[in-house]
Amino acid sequence: MPEPARSRKTDREKRRNSRRAEHRKLNYPRISLKSILYVTRIYRKAVGPKSIFFVVYRVYNSVVPAVTAVIAGAAVTSISNGIVTHDFVPFIVIAIILLGIEIVNLVLGTINNFLSITTNQDVFIYVSEQIATKYIRIPLKIRESREFADKFERVRDFGGSITYVSNSIVNVVTSVISLVSVVIATLTISPIVTLVVLVASVPSSILSLRLAAMQRRNWREFTRDRRIAWAIEQKMVNSNNALEIEMNGLSSHLVRQMIKARRRSQEQDIIDERRFLWPRFGANGLETAASYGVLIFVAIEIILEKLDIGQFLTVRTLLGQLNSNVSSLFNSISTVNENLVNATDYMEFMETPANASGDIKVSGIPKIEFRNVSFSYPNSSVKAIDNVSFTLNPGDSLAIVGENGAGKTTLIKLLIGAYEPSDGVILINDQPFSRIDRESYLAQLGALFQDYARYEFATLGENVWFGDVSKGFDREEIQKALHDADLGDLASKYEKGLNQVMSKDFDEKYTTDLSGGQWQRLSIARAFFRSPNVLLLDEPTAAVDAKSEYEIFKNIIKKQQGKSTIIISHRFSTVRKAEQIIVLDQGRITESGTHEELLAQNGTYAEMFKLQAEGYN
Ligand code: ADP
Repeated sequence: MPEPARSRKTDREKRRNSRRAEHRKLNYPRISLKSILYVTRIYRKAVGPKSIFFVVYRVYNSVVPAVTAVIAGAAVTSISNGIVTHDFVPFIVIAIILLGIEIVNLVLGTINNFLSITTNQDVFIYVSEQIATKYIRIPLKIRESREFADKFERVRDFGGSITYVSNSIVNVVTSVISLVSVVIATLTISPIVTLVVLVASVPSSILSLRLAAMQRRNWREFTRDRRIAWAIEQKMVNSNNALEIEMNGLSSHLVRQMIKARRRSQEQDIIDERRFLWPRFGANGLETAASYGVLIFVAIEIILEKLDIGQFLTVRTLLGQLNSNVSSLFNSISTVNENLVNATDYMEFMETPANASGDIKVSGIPKIEFRNVSFSYPNSSVKAIDNVSFTLNPGDSLAIVGENGAGKTTLIKLLIGAYEPSDGVILINDQPFSRIDRESYLAQLGALFQDYARYEFATLGENVWFGDVSKGFDREEIQKALHDADLGDLASKYEKGLNQVMSKDFDEKYTTDLSGGQWQRLSIARAFFRSPNVLLLDEPTAAVDAKSEYEIFKNIIKKQQGKSTIIISHRFSTVRKAEQIIVLDQGRITESGTHEELLAQNGTYAEMFKLQAEGYN
């Protein structure tokens, strides 16, 4: 029956071909020597001169087992010969050598234990610091992209796994040295034995490498699922969301979603592992068979008096070492590979260009001018800001009004240099932004956003002091800032006063939880403490009640006298006090002038003002 036979064959071929094609398609992330050297450099920088000892110790440690195996074999032979000759000297010499090796091992081992106590932590802390310092220097436009978020997730993975990576790199090197020393030791006994054992370990080595490469690819492909799982977990443990999640009965749904994302990220690994189950069984079986064959061969050679009796022990020990070295080598290569994938991301991350900066320093209150500025967010064709021009002279106050999505916050982001205009220029003291020294310019600004920060891990005093840590921790000034933000009596509510840590997660003495409005006022106190030359306020009092808001704005006006202020607000009682008001609509300035001028124009501003005034009546 030739027909079915042929079709069976073609079926098999088809399957094989499609598997090959699929394999070619796998885009395995590549591991470069460059990234290995890079990690080595990080390790050296983080660990310092101690790293020299570690290298020497690891190299010594990788050669010793093979040498000991050979000497131990010689000891057995010397005992066996001693039975006949009654000569103790050869055995005593060998025993002294073995004892010497043990003593050196003990001494070096103890030094190693002592030196490596802080090593992993040194490396971890060094990399965490590098990542954090770099992150804040990367322009917001890059940080906001989804690709960057994926990459940053892997960079963080790298930060967490750096100690594994560096240890695994060392393991690869030492496994190779061990392997070479074992091979040399085996060669001194029998080249055939060496060849058989080495050849038998090839299939399992290839399989290990292939599986590791697939897992590496999976790790990369499922970054987003890992990120989703992590984001859900964070939401659930965050006490700010806990209440809402519980009220909405959302917990179990979110847990299910998190598990699903986790499962998705591991599914492919399991499929791949399964596919390799039987081939690995075969490959490992081959290795075992080869080992036993070799031992039988050596035993026969000893009986035929071609080898010494002690060499049986040597070969048996060396075989064990060979197997464990090969598997440790490939395990380390896989670990290195897996983690070095993230090292590539880390390298790219560290090379991301920082915010560009010019060299013209800014001191005092700057003049800020927008000249025909337009801007679209990356990957968006809509203009969030469309041909906007205005000038903020030193000491002026400017209010921006407009509906949600009109472009008010975007304008502030452009002004602080978080984004660059797509068209037009921003001039600081009549100089283009690109020529301005960024740091000195930002030092003049202070901003209060709707999404203000809550530093729960810090004390009440620090929450204010964080407005400008370059100033001393002046308790009086901090108390004054709290007072101006209508929080004058807050410190007295706590037993520890300004030293109270602001969360019960970190301090059990924290008994009076702040309301949303109080937290917002605390962020205002921070801005007061900073006392910037240009104060940017983006709906800073949305969560604050009307009475407090009134007090706070009175204080803002008082404090900012002679300095510049830009304010975004929906409350006209606040807006009307500004010297200049601009109305934004779909990114464009539709009206501008003083409160009175705008009312006289009887346009959108007048309409909005009247609506709100009616609402208050
Ligand atoms: P406002 O502060 O006036 O409410 P925004 O300046 O926040 O408005 O937003 C202006 C427009 O830009 C809106 O259409 C908004 O959807 C869009 N936008 C805001 N932030 C981003 C962003 N990071 N990426 C893309 N589009 C954005």
